[in-house]
Amino acid sequence: MKKVYLDNASTTPLHPEVILEMTKILTEDYGNPSSTHSLGRNAKSILELSRKSIAKQINATAAEIIFTSCGTEANNWIMRSAVKDLKVTRIITSKIEHHAVLHTAIALQNEYAIQVDYVKVKPNGEVDLTHLVELLSEEKKTLVSLMHVNNETGTILDLDRVSQICHEHHALFHSDTVQSIGKTKIDLQHTPVDFIVASAHKFHGPKGVGFAFVRKNAGLQPLFFGGEQEKGQRPGTEAIHQVAGMSKALELSYQNLETESQYIASLKNYAIERLKTDFPGFKINGENTFYNLLNVLLPFEESKISMLLFHLDMKGIAVSRGSACQSGSIRPSHVLAEMLSTEDLKKPSIRISFSHFNTKEDIDLLMEGLKSI
Ligand code: PLP
Repeated sequence: MKKVYLDNASTTPLHPEVILEMTKILTEDYGNPSSTHSLGRNAKSILELSRKSIAKQINATAAEIIFTSCGTEANNWIMRSAVKDLKVTRIITSKIEHHAVLHTAIALQNEYAIQVDYVKVKPNGEVDLTHLVELLSEEKKTLVSLMHVNNETGTILDLDRVSQICHEHHALFHSDTVQSIGKTKIDLQHTPVDFIVASAHKFHGPKGVGFAFVRKNAGLQPLFFGGEQEKGQRPGTEAIHQVAGMSKALELSYQNLETESQYIASLKNYAIERLKTDFPGFKINGENTFYNLLNVLLPFEESKISMLLFHLDMKGIAVSRGSACQSGSIRPSHVLAEMLSTEDLKKPSIRISFSHFNTKEDIDLLMEGLKSI
């Protein structure tokens, strides 16, 4: 049975060149970058070259890139240190953020009694920037945390505009860019966001590694303590093979961005055309969504919701309902809950997310799978 993987917002298959790079390092370059002998120095050099390469892709400086174990860790670190060390007394976020941000904001509210405000979300999935400005008119030391591309619907935040608004109101701006890094150009000299985060497994790199971009002199302090790795900002022996794999994956992503993004966008358009033919009455959740993501409400009966993903899975087709963390549970997605009417929320929505490894045949198989339900 052909496997059809259309769940690339959840994670992506590794790029073959990334596997080669990582295998070489695991086999030959196993030194500890803190060791002074040649194996250690070699590992250190791989680490620093990777940092430079990543920084170059997003027009940052190498010193502004701190490696972490994942996107979740990077989000937690930035938000926690902003409250604990930068004395932020209010976080402004939205209810459509990933739980790595939402649950962190709530934990910080409970621990530090900070204020957490939520920017309104429009029915089309956009964050209401007029409301953001209104919230910011209350003068308080604030961190705004709003994601770039939503992982469930693909709705896009205007990073430049929000950076500008935050700047004007003297608020710090953190953006979870896990879904957009490697998939669209980000120029950190041009976009004055203070903090962004990335996770390698979303752009055909390995799981278990990510990074935080922390703008120069931001003043963050570490979450935990140990050695001098990452200038003491994130102690722990560096996972060289992971970091180098991430760097390779990002380099390839940006090298092929134009052709791959156009190809993926054409797959998305094809899927929309097929849906129009096969399931008139379907609706796209969100407006002007990112080119690799399609969240659709299907005109199926409520009774079919629970079996939908199971049936597709039996046919070797992987898609997702809402975010991956919730697949398998029948709770409605917290993101769709902010956007859809109560009636529409009861209907089945699926998230189809593409990569350049997909083909039109994958979409045909998905449609056949859906028709057979
Ligand atoms: N933020 C967003 C928007 C995501 O989509 C994800 C992954 O699902 C994360 C954060 C968490 O990243 P990681 O899996 O690296 O912890």
